[in-house]
Amino acid sequence: MNKTIFKLFLFVVLYLTCNSTIFPTDLFASAASANSSQDIHIVKIDSLNQIVNSKSTQTIYFLDIDDTLFDFPCMLGSKAWRKYIISATKDDFTENWHDVFSLFIARNHPLETVEVLTSRFVQELQMKGCGVFGLTARERKIWYDTPMDDIDLLTISQLESVGINFNNESLTKAYPYLTNNPEYFKGIFFADIEPKGEYLLKLFKDASQLPKKVIFIDDKQSQVESVAAALNLLGISYECYWYAATEEKAARFDPLIANIQLYYFWISGGKRVVCDEEAASIAEQYPERNAEYYLQSLLNDAKTKMIKQ
Ligand SMILES: [Mg+2]
Repeated sequence: MNKTIFKLFLFVVLYLTCNSTIFPTDLFASAASANSSQDIHIVKIDSLNQIVNSKSTQTIYFLDIDDTLFDFPCMLGSKAWRKYIISATKDDFTENWHDVFSLFIARNHPLETVEVLTSRFVQELQMKGCGVFGLTARERKIWYDTPMDDIDLLTISQLESVGINFNNESLTKAYPYLTNNPEYFKGIFFADIEPKGEYLLKLFKDASQLPKKVIFIDDKQSQVESVAAALNLLGISYECYWYAATEEKAARFDPLIANIQLYYFWISGGKRVVCDEEAASIAEQYPERNAEYYLQSLLNDAKTKMIKQ
C-alpha cells in the first residue's frame, strides 16, 4: 500500500475509531476534548541550547536525525544538495540518480554533528533518565524510493560515527507500549507514513497508554507543525521546536562546489573528500568547467559503471 493510500486509510480508521468503543478510553477522552482547540504552538530555534530541558523523567523526547543531529561537513550531501540533485537529474531516467548518489554518500562520506554540542545534548538527556528516541522519515527497508534492506543499520552506524547512540535496553522496559512496533529499531522510530504527525497518531493509537509530555525537534517546519497538531489532538502536553541551524548553510548552497565534490568523491570510489574551500580552489583553477560539466562527467562515469555491474 503506498503512502497516500495508507494516509487516507489511516484518516478513515482514526475517524471510525474515535466514534467507537475500541479506542482506549483515556485516548478517546483526550482526543475528543482537544478537538475544540485548533491552536498549535511551535518554537523556532537556532541552537539546541535554546531548549529548556524538562525536569520530568516522564517526558519523552523525539529527535529528528538528518539535518537535526548530523549533517555532512560540506555542501555535498546537505539538505540543499538533495533538493538540487533531484532537480538537476529529473530529465535523466536512466536511474534514480538522487537515490544512487545520496545512498553512496550516506554509506561512505564522513558526517559531523550539526552543532558541536549535539552529542552531549543527547547524552545529558539520556543520563537524566528521559525517554530519548530518534524519529526519522527514513524507512527501515527503503532509501527514499529505492528498496534497500539495511537502512536501519546504516542509520545506526551513521549516528554512532558522531557519538550518538539511541539504543538502550531501558527504553523497551519503560515504554513497551511504544517500542513493540515494527517500525521501531534500537531506539529509533522509522516513520513509514508522512508527515510524522500522522505517524505518531498511528503509533499512539495502538498504544495502551500515552506519554505525559513530548518534546519534538526537527529541522523541517512541516514536520514540526504536523507533530504539534497530532499531539494537540491527542491532548498530550508538548514542546515542538523547528530547528533552523542548517538554514544558513542551505542558503549559500553552490551547485558548482557540490558537483566538484561529488565528481571527485564518486570517481575515487568514495575515498576523496573535497571540502568547500578546496572545491572553490579547483573551480578557480578550471574556470571553463561549470557545474553542468562536472555533473555530466560523473553521470557518464556512473552509467558506464552501472552497465558493467
Ligand atoms: Mg531532518
